Amino acid sequence: MTRLGVVFGAVIAVAELVDCHRDSGCCTPWGEPDVHHLVLANVRRLVMPVSAVGRLGLWDLDDTVLSEAATVLSETEVEGS
Ligand SMILES: [Zn+2]
Repeated sequence: MTRLGVVFGAVIAVAELVDCHRDSGCCTPWGEPDVHHLVLANVRRLVMPVSAVGRLGLWDLDDTVLSEAATVLSETEVEGS
């Protein structure tokens, strides 16, 4: 969805989830206290956003959004090489 040219609800990057741990005063300055921390690696910004409805927490993308994100990611990697 766009309003005034701003995209709302979109996949804007792809990353690997490499760790999940309970807060122990780590991950400063961004880690919030008393929650689980998700550690990402290999974050790749997509050259254009892929429309998707967001949700709280972790969820699986539907097949259509996943396919479109994979296509844009392949275009991103060609442009970045
Ligand atoms: Zn942490």
